[in-house]
Amino acid sequence: MNSVRVETGVLFMAVKSIVRCSCGQRIVAKDVIQTGYYIRLASPSFVYVKFRCSRCKKLGERFLRQEDWEKGILREIPQELSDAERKRFERLGPISVNEVIEAHFTMENGISLKDLVAGAEVNAAGEGEEKS
Ligand SMILES: [Zn+2]
Repeated sequence: MNSVRVETGVLFMAVKSIVRCSCGQRIVAKDVIQTGYYIRLASPSFVYVKFRCSRCKKLGERFLRQEDWEKGILREIPQELSDAERKRFERLGPISVNEVIEAHFTMENGISLKDLVAGAEVNAAGEGEEKS
């Protein structure tokens, strides 16, 4: 009987480790403004999380069990790209053979570091057009 109760508790906590704004938007690591730890002996420690929602821009705060918070953090590690960056890379697609050849000739023609930096800035802003 006891072990069944424990398992139910674990399932419940796993669901609760997802932080959501009151508007329903999921809060991820980049939205978090401030965290604080409330360490207590002989009972679970709590984490205070303050965030700004990426959708409605409202501030919110939650108290979470420390272990739930840490699980939530781990889940965010693969997402290093911002939404805008991810969309841009999806749009660009894989690097084609032609792009590789083009880059090779560009370097052969002699390109200054200044031009490279200028090109990189245009691409980073998502305004670089593919020449084909
Ligand atoms: Zn929101």
